[in-house]
Amino acid sequence: MSVENAIQTPNDQILLKVRNLKKYFPTSNGVVRAVDDVSFDVSKEETLALVGESGSGKTTVANVILGKYVADAGSILYKGYEIGNIPLIKRNLLLRREIQVVFQDPATSLNPKKTVKDIIETAINIHYPNLNKYEKIERLLILMNYVGLTEDYLFKLPGELGGGEKQLVAIARALATNPTCLILDESTSNLDVSAQSRILKTLLRIQKSKNLTYILITHDLAVVKNISHRINVMYLGKLMEIASVEELFSNPLHPYTQMLLASIPTISEEESKTLPKGIESKGEIPSAINPPSGCRFRTRCPFVMNICSEQEPILNEVSHGHYVACHLINNMKK
Ligand code: SF4
Repeated sequence: MSVENAIQTPNDQILLKVRNLKKYFPTSNGVVRAVDDVSFDVSKEETLALVGESGSGKTTVANVILGKYVADAGSILYKGYEIGNIPLIKRNLLLRREIQVVFQDPATSLNPKKTVKDIIETAINIHYPNLNKYEKIERLLILMNYVGLTEDYLFKLPGELGGGEKQLVAIARALATNPTCLILDESTSNLDVSAQSRILKTLLRIQKSKNLTYILITHDLAVVKNISHRINVMYLGKLMEIASVEELFSNPLHPYTQMLLASIPTISEEESKTLPKGIESKGEIPSAINPPSGCRFRTRCPFVMNICSEQEPILNEVSHGHYVACHLINNMKK
């Protein structure tokens, strides 16, 4: 069954429908095929993780959803409306309000000369200019309360805050527009373990209370396990595997997913027993300018066969909601 037919989320439950998305970047060395024919759904109120190494195309997918880039081919339907061909500058205020992003490094996304109050208030002023002064202050305090920041932080500058606190300010600013969908782009990658845990707990609490949909972009499968419902594994611009978190961690099928799982650092023997056994990490991700023929993972795959260089494997459903693009798995099913 092809992915187009196989992804069976009921239509009224789909927030984003991505189909055959392509995004290429011409360079002086050739064309970078950053995203090359990718299809998936994002359901309302779920957390979908896009996982893969640097160069997998996950951030490019997010940037097309955000309107930073326009799709070269394919479609992105948001609540049934095509947005893949609308750049951010041409998106109306309502759409810009609904899809917000929290970046990896709050130190660069927050103005160092503005206080926490100014940073969050600016977003309120842009998106809700008709609120009166008291309503704006009320909204500011509600947002700070949502992310667990007390009024003591109102007049602090970003430089006076820890990494986790800065990220809480960035989340409060994103929430100021009352979004439906938050894209979390490596939002906890630069944080220490305790700050990361605080942010993840805050995100989970906010998601429940505000019925938010999250798209989590990360290279870190350990983070994914704690917060996501489903995982899309990407490699060199292609989707390799889609599954629920439970299924992916208990039954990873694609050799690339197994390699990613094997590279999760564990702190104890006990912990390592809970992770599936994977294959050793081998080599580097090849260039997206001249990707390998057939299966793009074949230059690193220990199970490579002749067919792998000749035919591109199609994403097939191997069990309910679990899709894999691999000739080895397809052959085992026959
Ligand atoms: Fe490995 Fe072939 Fe499967 Fe690609 S299609 S992951 S090369 S076995």
